[in-house]
Amino acid sequence: MKAILFHSHGGPEVLQYTDFPAPEPTPGEVQVRLRAAALNRADLWVREGWPGLKLEYPHIPGADGAGEVSSLGEGVSDLKIGDRVVINSSISCGKCSHCLAGKDNLCSEWHLLGETIRGTYAEYVVVPAVNLLPLPQSIDYEGAAAASLVFHTAWHSLITRGRLGEGESVLVVGASGGVNTASIQVAKYVGAKVYVVGSSPEKLALAESLGADELIDRSKEENWAKVVYLATERQGVDVVVDNVGAGTMPLSLRAARKGGRILTVGNTGGPKFEIDNRYIFGKHLSVLGSTMGTHTDYATVMGLVFEGKLKPVLDRQFPLKEAAAAQERLATGQQMGKITLGI
Ligand code: ZN
Repeated sequence: MKAILFHSHGGPEVLQYTDFPAPEPTPGEVQVRLRAAALNRADLWVREGWPGLKLEYPHIPGADGAGEVSSLGEGVSDLKIGDRVVINSSISCGKCSHCLAGKDNLCSEWHLLGETIRGTYAEYVVVPAVNLLPLPQSIDYEGAAAASLVFHTAWHSLITRGRLGEGESVLVVGASGGVNTASIQVAKYVGAKVYVVGSSPEKLALAESLGADELIDRSKEENWAKVVYLATERQGVDVVVDNVGAGTMPLSLRAARKGGRILTVGNTGGPKFEIDNRYIFGKHLSVLGSTMGTHTDYATVMGLVFEGKLKPVLDRQFPLKEAAAAQERLATGQQMGKITLGI
């Protein structure tokens, strides 16, 4: 098969478009002929590497993908060859105490597809059958791949962890990234009032088109926490979604109301920052972290995507062989929505 792979960490130049043997399914697994993959910021971090990350080389990046079932492992009976499917990239063992309790995202042998195991920048991938959802004709491969990880992540964070409900207020820090555009839509879907802090008028216009109620341009409002505070009758918001981290978390703590919740699933601005602990205990804040979500979350949120109630935001599609250029675009931060690969 054709695949994008790398043999060592580095910049986009380490990505090679080449031939590699297609993976074969073992019992309980399914081989998918991929038609689209979507990029995530984690793809860049895996390519660059971090201390302690151990990969089996060559490594194939990519968490998100959609395509057709091309081969079935022993014991798989609920799918057939040719079925259109989308991949849940949160891979769990199905046997440990967390998995048996329905918290498969806490699995003791958890993997993210394309992070620690070979992923979707390829013509074929193999995943457990439980990680596939049949795709209705109403959604194409590109949209399904683009929706998958970000809506799964946003739903688990805002709803399962954050218990966001109707009538609550939520501040989303960042206007145009994949998880943020998904978070805005999920928050609106459950009836929350959505504030968005963005870095440019274009990105805020995107947030507004997704239903955001109040827009704050942080290129003009350096102390955006104060703007939120004043806009909420000096109360602050019930929930802050902060997946930027360095540079924003101190202000996010200030923007939350007493008893509020801070949700985080990542840190596109950097993982290490100083915080003033007095905001956490003094305001009775809860800081709720998570990564990805459960199989139940996935089925729930993708059902809403299939019904058109939540919509993937698409930036540009590149052919598979131009994955390096696609990753370079992602690294610039200029994209508005998801960058995808056509396979
Ligand atoms: Zn497990």
